[in-house]
Amino acid sequence: MAWPLQQGLRARAASIALVALALFLEAAVAHAGPVRAPDVILTGTLTRAAHETYTEVPFKAPPGVDRITVEFAYTGREQRSVIDLGLRDPERFRGWSGGNKSSFTLAESDATPSYLAGPLKPGVWKLVLGAPNIRKDSRADYTAKIWFDRKGAAAVGFNDQPLASEERWWRGDLHMHTGHSDGSCLSRKGAKVPCPTYKTLEAATARGLDFVAVTDHNATSHFGALRELAPYFDDLLIIPGREITTFYGHANLFGPTAFVDFQLGGPHAPKMADILRQVEATGGMISINHPGLPSGEFCMGCGWTAPDTDYGRIQAIEAVNGGNVEGPLSSIGFWEQRLNEGRRITAVGGSDNHDATLHPDKAPAIGVPTTVVRAGQLSQAAILTAIGQGHVFLDIAGTRDRLLDVRAIADGATAQMGDALSAPVGTKIRVDVHVVGASGGSISLAGDGAKLASSPGAKLTGADQTVSFDLTADGARRWLRIDVRGADGKLILLGNPIYLTP
Ligand SMILES: [Zn+2]
Ligand SMILES: [Zn+2]
Repeated sequence: MAWPLQQGLRARAASIALVALALFLEAAVAHAGPVRAPDVILTGTLTRAAHETYTEVPFKAPPGVDRITVEFAYTGREQRSVIDLGLRDPERFRGWSGGNKSSFTLAESDATPSYLAGPLKPGVWKLVLGAPNIRKDSRADYTAKIWFDRKGAAAVGFNDQPLASEERWWRGDLHMHTGHSDGSCLSRKGAKVPCPTYKTLEAATARGLDFVAVTDHNATSHFGALRELAPYFDDLLIIPGREITTFYGHANLFGPTAFVDFQLGGPHAPKMADILRQVEATGGMISINHPGLPSGEFCMGCGWTAPDTDYGRIQAIEAVNGGNVEGPLSSIGFWEQRLNEGRRITAVGGSDNHDATLHPDKAPAIGVPTTVVRAGQLSQAAILTAIGQGHVFLDIAGTRDRLLDVRAIADGATAQMGDALSAPVGTKIRVDVHVVGASGGSISLAGDGAKLASSPGAKLTGADQTVSFDLTADGARRWLRIDVRGADGKLILLGNPIYLTP
């Protein structure tokens, strides 16, 4: 967008720029559609001639559109001008929001309530403008901004704006099921029924979570329910998710709402690379779920056995799944194996909850474990970016306040969990570990970088404590992770690694 700075007002350019910035910020806050410029802008005027009639304004939808978003505004409200809103696609009526919504969105999987989800046919669509009232000698100037999103465009989630804007640790659960797959709970009369999506979000907010991904098996139908619930749960970031559930392993896909194949070995996705290609086309993030579970009749397709997986295309691994932390069903070893191979893959956690009404102290209650993410704001883009960067630790019991913050400092550079730190041979590195809520527990080190440390661990005596130790780099590529164990030796906080590079 060009601002009018070119009109001989150089002396005032700075103040105009500030005004422009303020206008831009105001527009950004008021704006409901995608951040980029609209693909179509329709403008026009309704006068008394339109009173108690319908005006249909055509626009052309190109082929290959995945989502249509409309934002509508008009003038003349002070003269009681009213414009109601509806939509027709090339074949059928798609919805009527009257005067109750100024913006809405439609996709194959979901739509703003009042509108119908479904295929977005290319061709001539019509915005239907109803005019219950335009006074004599009055007018209403309208503007409709329309965005066409294609697969892989900046993901349109359920929240148009960041829910909060501050740099801090945000807590969430990335793995849950509702009645849109095999999530169930007791009905009002006590029968086991597919559990409504509302229950899952209610339990997540009751636990104090900041973000969730509801990940029904191979489904996209839950996106419609989440689209409806998001305005009500305005203190909870809802990230579109689904569990790609194959016979050779399960993986969560975060971000897109478009369909992605799961029929590994079938005609549409014969190899894992075919699924990954579809995932990448959507711009989504993928996380391998519970790879440490067995496969076979005990848990069909649960372990990760997909042949020819290119781990360079995997962003995250669910290192802790519900109550499967350490022991024979642990997935931590599978993740560490990838780290030992030189991959940088973020460990995340997921409750894999299948009953939102489960007692909150019991795994896999929603939020057990909690994935805790350091991000500059509570938005889909910020949280997924931070997960990709590894700025993450896992709170195994899903408390509201336990904290693990790790900083490695060398030659004036600081790395946090997930970051790489340049450390040629002989580099002295100081590691500061800030732990909250683990008094009586201990810090332990993991990874091949642990042997470089001056001390193998430390007891925690305070509720809020920072422990420091030193490392001397040996010039090799290493990874180093900090975990926190409780007084009983059980893992309570799992950190992501800091990567030492020569
Ligand atoms: Zn699974
Ligand atoms: Zn699951």
